[in-house]
Amino acid sequence: MKTTDISCLCGSVKVQLRGEPITQFYCHCDDCQATSGGAYIGVAVYPTNAVKVMQGELITWTLKSLPRQRCANCGTHVMAEVPGLDQCGIKANLLPKGDFKPDFHLHCRYAVLPVNDDLPHFDDLPASFGGSDETINW
Ligand SMILES: [Zn+2]
Ligand SMILES: [Zn+2]
Repeated sequence: MKTTDISCLCGSVKVQLRGEPITQFYCHCDDCQATSGGAYIGVAVYPTNAVKVMQGELITWTLKSLPRQRCANCGTHVMAEVPGLDQCGIKANLLPKGDFKPDFHLHCRYAVLPVNDDLPHFDDLPASFGGSDETINW
């Protein structure tokens, strides 16, 4: 099985991912904006049991709603467990170059820097995530 090794930006936290992600996307929600300090983040979703912390210390913090894990040393946001789904969202900028292949954009109603591309732009969430499935045009 394919394994992917990622680390935080100081290198003290190392995480191994087994297999391929379930899905990947850009999230534009206000929580991701607040915790990242950016306009949106890339996320690669893996089953929780495919994510193994090999080294280093992660601390959990919550700013608005979603608890996220970041490196205790450098503060890099590494991942967040999706409540109730047994899935883990990995911060996609930590993946090896070329591994981020997004399927869609989420929470586009919050977008401050719309990304014009050919992917679906969901107003909130796709139906498969329990959302309205409505898309918007940028
Ligand atoms: Zn978000
Ligand atoms: Zn670190």
